[in-house]
Amino acid sequence: MDIENFKNILGPLRVFENEPLSKHTYFKIGGPARIFFEAKNVDDLRLALKTAHDLKIPFVILGGGANVLVSDSGFDGLVVKNRADGIKLIGIKGIIDKLGKGIKSAQVWCASGTLMNQLARFTIDQGLEGLEFLLSVPGTVGGGLKINAHYEVEKGEFLGNRLTSAVLFDPKNGEEKTVDSKYFEFGYDKSKIQKTEEIVLEALFKLDAIKDKATLWQKAMDDVKRRNEEQPIGIACSGCVFRNIEDADAQRLFTPNLTTSTGYIIEKLGLKGQRIGGAQISEKHANYILNVDSAEADDVLKLIDLVKKKAKTDLDLDLKEEIFYIGDF
Ligand SMILES: Cc1cc2nc3c(=O)[nH]c(=O)nc-3n(C[C@H](O)[C@H](O)[C@H](O)COP(=O)(O)OP(=O)(O)OC[C@H]3O[C@@H](n4cnc5c(N)ncnc54)[C@H](O)[C@@H]3O)c2cc1C
Repeated sequence: MDIENFKNILGPLRVFENEPLSKHTYFKIGGPARIFFEAKNVDDLRLALKTAHDLKIPFVILGGGANVLVSDSGFDGLVVKNRADGIKLIGIKGIIDKLGKGIKSAQVWCASGTLMNQLARFTIDQGLEGLEFLLSVPGTVGGGLKINAHYEVEKGEFLGNRLTSAVLFDPKNGEEKTVDSKYFEFGYDKSKIQKTEEIVLEALFKLDAIKDKATLWQKAMDDVKRRNEEQPIGIACSGCVFRNIEDADAQRLFTPNLTTSTGYIIEKLGLKGQRIGGAQISEKHANYILNVDSAEADDVLKLIDLVKKKAKTDLDLDLKEEIFYIGDF
C-alpha cells in the first residue's frame, strides 16, 4: 500500500495512521483504519478518492457513521471521513414579487458530507417543504442517499423522492458522472449505489415552497418528539439494525394491522432485552442493538446472527441488515 505517496499528495499532517474508528461511529465500535483522512470540502473528497484509486489503495467512505458496524480488526486501507459540507439555494421557480412571495419550488444544492439535520434546518428556514422529516436524523446526505433515508414511509418521506441529480465518483474507474434521480432506482432502504458502490460527491434537491414556515417547524418538531418517544436515546447504537419485512410476509404472518416492523418481529421472537457481551437488543425498540457496556463488533454480530437464525427457524423469515459492514467479518 503506497501510504507515503498518498500522504505526500494529501498532506502528511492530514493523514492519520491507525486511527480508531470507534471514535467515528455512532455504535462507538470499530478497530483502526490503516490510514484515515478527513475531507473538508468536495475538492478534498475528490482528490482523496481519485488518489486512492490511482494508487490502488483500498478505500471506504464514512459519513456520520450512523449506519455502520465496523469490524474489531478495523479496515486495512484508507477510510475517508466525509466532512465536505455546504448548502446553497440555486434556483427558484414561480413569479416572484419584491417580498419573495410567489415562489413555487426551489432547487437546493449540497455537498454530500452535509448533515441531513443541517439540510432540514436550512430548507425549513427557507420555507421549503419536503425534507423537514430529516430534522434530528443522524448522518450525512451521502450516507442518506445510499440507504434512501426516510421517516413516514406511507407519506412518501424518502430523501430520494426529493433528489433531482447527483455527482457520483465511480471507484471502479476513478471517474465522475452526473446522474438523475432515476439512476438510483430508489426503494425502501434501497438505492442502486449499494450495488455499484459509487460515492456521492454532490446532490441537488427540488423542494416545494410553502407560505408558512412556522407550520413546517411544528411538523418537524412533532416528528422529533415522536421519534424520541419511540426510540432509545442517549445510548450508543446505529439506529435500526434490520430492514423492515416485505408486505407479503406481513400478510403471511398476520402481523397486527399488517405491520412490516421488524421491531415487532424481534419482540415476537422473544428477543427483546437479549444481551451478548456488551451489546443488547433494546427493551424500548427491538430493532435497535445498543452498545451498553464497551461492546465489540463481534458481540453485535452474534446478536444479529441470533435474530436472523430465530426468525428463519420460527417464522421462515429472511431478515436483512439495514446497517452496512466495514472491514473483515
Ligand atoms: C439514533 C439513530 C436514529 C436514526 N433514525 C433514522 C431515521 O429516522 N430514518 C432513517 O432513514 N435513518 C435513521 N438512522 C440511520 C442513519 O441516520 C441513516 O442510515 C443515515 O443515512 C446514515 O448516514 P451516515 O452518513 O451516517 O452513513 P454512514 O453510517 O457513515 O455510512 C453508511 C453507508 O453509506 C456509505 N456512504 C457514506 N457516505 C457516502 C457517500 N457520500 N456516498 C456513497 N456512500 C456513502 C458508507 O460507506 C456506508 O456503506 C438512525 C440512526 C441512528 C444512530
